[in-house]
Amino acid sequence: MYKQIYKYIKKYNNIVIARHIGVDPDAMASQIALRDSIKLTFPEKKVLAVGNGSTKFSYIGKLDKLEELENALLIVVDLPDKKRADSIEFENYDYVIKIDHHPFIEDFGGLELIDDKASSTAEIIMDMFLNTKLECNKEIAETLYYGLVSDSNRFLFNSCTEKTFRLVSQYLKLYDMDVEKLYRNLYLRPLSEVRLEGYISQNMIVTEHGVGYIKITNDLIEEFHVDSAAAGNLINNFNFIEGIYVWVTITEDIKSEVIRISIRSRGPIINKIAEKYNGGGHKMASGARVATFKEADKLIKDLDQNLEKYLKNNTEEDRYDD
Ligand code: AMP
Repeated sequence: MYKQIYKYIKKYNNIVIARHIGVDPDAMASQIALRDSIKLTFPEKKVLAVGNGSTKFSYIGKLDKLEELENALLIVVDLPDKKRADSIEFENYDYVIKIDHHPFIEDFGGLELIDDKASSTAEIIMDMFLNTKLECNKEIAETLYYGLVSDSNRFLFNSCTEKTFRLVSQYLKLYDMDVEKLYRNLYLRPLSEVRLEGYISQNMIVTEHGVGYIKITNDLIEEFHVDSAAAGNLINNFNFIEGIYVWVTITEDIKSEVIRISIRSRGPIINKIAEKYNGGGHKMASGARVATFKEADKLIKDLDQNLEKYLKNNTEEDRYDD
């Protein structure tokens, strides 16, 4: 499949690389690294990495303004379903290639490179660079490292396999990355965010069976001077709490008039439940969108019932196995 993707890249002079809405480091790093590699390999090609960015991730690189390009190839990274694509219209392109690590949802009609066992989309692209003539350098390698480290929450999940560590090892050897600098960029954050994290720790509600959740209203967001995306992202800092198997942030986003929900699990599969609430994602890391806090309460109830079943059917030891 890598070779086929390379052939399409070689054939097209105009290429647009897109990803999902609600930019995150894996999606953004994957599209920027792929753009920069194609430009390095084929300097004459026009390659755009598009979508709405976030100043928070400016250390990853610069995105491009979407332009209408004739006879263009579309490469979509880190996106399993068309409806969550950021900025692009699929009909405007001659051919489409998907590169993704989410469980399959729908076929985009072209090449589908999906590895839902990969820690991140960045990992798939790292592997592709080593197996095609697409060129890489230290800067591109560091961009990919951001994506992989961020999506695996610093190598915390079972999605990190022998292959993940092997690829990281190969890249460290080839490109001499300054990982301490990269971690500084990824993890330095304002005190206001840390204070909100303290608030969440103090006020998290835990259901009967062990779903921990917090409602982050717009009032709280204003009180703590954080943006709603950063508030929701704090979900990733609440792993490994005894008695909590599923944890959830419910964040009001008044600009988009939506309540954004992030869900994480260290046991039961949660993406099927997220799908019932306008969401989806990975088995152990999902998101959803609802209109009211009442709907969010329903989701919490669903998650709690699902967790009850899970705890009945799994002993303490096999709870941590996939
Ligand atoms: P988040 O909690 O926003 O970091 O998202 C965790 C995972 O769920 C990511 O793989 C997202 O792509 C996916 N996800 C988040 N929100 C949604 C949604 N509304 N619909 C489908 N997938 C989502």
